[in-house]
Amino acid sequence: MSHLTWGGSSCLELAERFGTPLYVLDEDVIRARCAEVRRSFLDRWHGSTAFYASKAFLTRAMARIVDQEGLGLDVVSLGELHTALRAGFPPGRIELHGNAKSEEELRAALSVGVGRIVVDGSMELDVLIDLAERMGARARILIRVAPGVEADTHAHIATGHEGSKFGVPLEGDVLPRMIHEAQASGCVELMGLHSHVGSQLFDPDDHVRAVERLVEAMARLRGELGFEPRELGLGGGFGAQISPDVPHVPLALFTDAMMEALSRGCAAHGLALPAASIEPGRWIVSEAGLSLYRIETVKELPDVIYLAVDGGMSDNPRYALYGARYRATLAERPDAPAHEQGRRVCIAGKCCESGDVLIEDARPLPHAGRGDVLAIFNAGAYTFSMASNYDRLGRPAVVLVGTGHEPEVIVERQSPEDLLRGDVIPARLAEDSEMSSTNEAERGGGGGCVRHAL
Ligand code: PLP
Repeated sequence: MSHLTWGGSSCLELAERFGTPLYVLDEDVIRARCAEVRRSFLDRWHGSTAFYASKAFLTRAMARIVDQEGLGLDVVSLGELHTALRAGFPPGRIELHGNAKSEEELRAALSVGVGRIVVDGSMELDVLIDLAERMGARARILIRVAPGVEADTHAHIATGHEGSKFGVPLEGDVLPRMIHEAQASGCVELMGLHSHVGSQLFDPDDHVRAVERLVEAMARLRGELGFEPRELGLGGGFGAQISPDVPHVPLALFTDAMMEALSRGCAAHGLALPAASIEPGRWIVSEAGLSLYRIETVKELPDVIYLAVDGGMSDNPRYALYGARYRATLAERPDAPAHEQGRRVCIAGKCCESGDVLIEDARPLPHAGRGDVLAIFNAGAYTFSMASNYDRLGRPAVVLVGTGHEPEVIVERQSPEDLLRGDVIPARLAEDSEMSSTNEAERGGGGGCVRHAL
């Protein structure tokens, strides 16, 4: 019976060599997706651009791959911006997002000259203009709008509805005032509008409805203010499958429908076709990723069998956050017949929360025991990037696999000692006798204390 391989590497060997939990990413899949973005979107629509949404997964190696593949990068924080710049990513191909940008983030974006800043609200616009004036800088901006579309997805990853914390309403006086203010400022160049309806969508209808709402607004804004966007950001949200048995959703399913709606709408209103951009995140990286765990305990209850693994919501909080679904198998015998028909097989984590579940019901799954390596598929997006140190668990390592190279660690596993970086004991708390004797022992002193090292 064959063992599970990923990107040409045996998952058992990866688990043995790099330890578990482990994030494994197949570089070939990431590059193939970037190529599909070029083929299906960039090469077909004049002036179009694509930004990989780095919130899905970002390390310096990932930024290098995205750069080599010719895509831009969407960042939402100083940390993401810094990672991109330290990977040598060209600032002009970076777009800064965020609904609560700090002055520090805006200042950094202005000083390195990011390609676009997507301004989310009138207060941010005031701050940006003021800052740009003081710095003698100039920024190309888009205004983020909420198109008022209820996307068919979990409420926690819907963003384009009325009342969303993201964007400004298409109707009302905020958007016209912002356009007016931007046009009057010599420090910002208003390139257009931006919207993102939500994530993990499989039907292009939500995206199409958003485009239609944007086109109606464009026609209205031209009539009222003489403003016509040169650019239109259409966001990401293209769905990623939960199982490798199912073919991935072609990007063109969305982008063709969106661009046809845009072309049709613009022609009907006599509007010039703006240059469109997209921001796929999970669609590029989710299906490239696998998480490997070791099963620590098996607990059989009348209604459910718990397989508790050596990771959990600390390395993948997505089920806990919004019920994300996954499929799993055993690395050693992926093709073995399913063991349990009657009872639910729940993949639970090791964190101290009952909600720490990775898969509510992993059936069909072969019979599993302590020490088995469990692989969770299509786990490349929003796992590493959402990881925490809950329960003082170290974040797993990330390994890149693929043809033509050995598996490579691109992020090292955090050790218990790594968790102490920046952890400070104020001098006054170090003063009691036990601590001072421990400190003394750590310094190699006597006092009868033993120095414990992990
Ligand atoms: N663009 C924006 C503005 C977003 O908020 C998000 C996700 O939150 C994305 C792109 C990427 O979404 P996805 O990973 O679902 O493609």
